[in-house]
Amino acid sequence: MDTILFLAHTESDGTLGRAALETLTGAADLARALPGATFMAGLIGGDVTAAENAISGCGAAKIFTVAGADFAMSRYASDAAALDAICRAAGATIVVAPATARFNRVMPGVAQRLGGCIDTHVAGFVVVDGALRIQRGYYRQRMVGTLTRAARPWCLTFDGGVFAAWSGAAAAVPTEAVAVTLGDAQRRTTVVGFQAPPSDAQTIRPDANLLFVAGVGWTKKQSDGQVHLDEAAKIILGFLDRSKASLGSSKSLVDQSSEGQNVFSFMSHLNQVGQTGATPRHPKGLAACCHGEEPHVVGWRFIGERRAINLDPNCGWAQGKADVLYVADAFALVTKVGELL
Ligand SMILES: Cc1cc2nc3c(=O)[nH]c(=O)nc-3n(C[C@H](O)[C@H](O)[C@H](O)COP(=O)(O)OP(=O)(O)OC[C@H]3O[C@@H](n4cnc5c(N)ncnc54)[C@H](O)[C@@H]3O)c2cc1C
Repeated sequence: MDTILFLAHTESDGTLGRAALETLTGAADLARALPGATFMAGLIGGDVTAAENAISGCGAAKIFTVAGADFAMSRYASDAAALDAICRAAGATIVVAPATARFNRVMPGVAQRLGGCIDTHVAGFVVVDGALRIQRGYYRQRMVGTLTRAARPWCLTFDGGVFAAWSGAAAAVPTEAVAVTLGDAQRRTTVVGFQAPPSDAQTIRPDANLLFVAGVGWTKKQSDGQVHLDEAAKIILGFLDRSKASLGSSKSLVDQSSEGQNVFSFMSHLNQVGQTGATPRHPKGLAACCHGEEPHVVGWRFIGERRAINLDPNCGWAQGKADVLYVADAFALVTKVGELL
């Protein structure tokens, strides 16, 4: 019988982030689906009280914690020590954690310390004949692999956007503070603060609710026979600033930039969505001035609700690729939406 352990770290304000709550839904689902499984949870952070209360009703039989100033920050040595201790205290055989930057860095090392194995970027699971099979994408998400392992403990980091965020009423649940003693060697690294790039420099935001995709139409001659690059840049950046959306692009638009033509300085090939670009995950997507051709739209497979703005009522989005198509001038429409925001 497996013991499933959900692991999470608190954010700087003591709460759990979206990725953690989504993964909790997956872990709780797994615990229900796997016959005879025991379900536990483990939290690390500066002060985990609020997080502990928030997830107390998730169905875990016990919540293990490692808390204190030493565990507030993302630091490999202290995180690895804390997570290793929690996994051992819980007797975990399946460890489920969100694929946050903090856990992506430390979980493979934890699996190594435990003598177990790890699969990262897990995007789903099924239970067949009482055995867990996980799913993950390969070859730029074009293929889905389903695999199982006999080795234990088996650590899994789940990508965001796979499950709905968990929420539920608080419940009384036993907790155990696991003692972890750090030596000087584990305290050598000190996090002195965060430096976030300005919002117009950092346009790729994996945690955003909305993906805003710009196409080459922004750089084309408009009804007055002129191109309006400066205005387009202002509208796009203004919308991103207000909506906090992540910025995607069609290939044609970023190709233009690299050829030194109509450059949008805030955009690069990293923004490209599609067959030869990224396959981001966001609850919603809005494309503007982008045609919606198949090699582009294939990159939208993990976008929930899809909307597009295009002057052409016969564009690709109208061929069943979007839930809603606004046949409109994106310059006017996005400006208006920006004002409303
Ligand atoms: C092997 C291969 C791989 C590819 N991989 C990718 C990929 O990964 N990603 C990708 O994006 N593409 C990819 N492509 C290219 C893809 O097929 C398209 O050429 C590309 O997506 C088109 O970009 P676009 O929609 O921005 O430009 P266009 O097709 O030029 O469309 C511009 C649109 O803007 C609209 N428009 C203009 N002005 C306005 C306005 N004021 N308001 C509203 N709408 C307006 C026009 O009506 C038009 O529909 C690939 C192609 C191949 C062959």
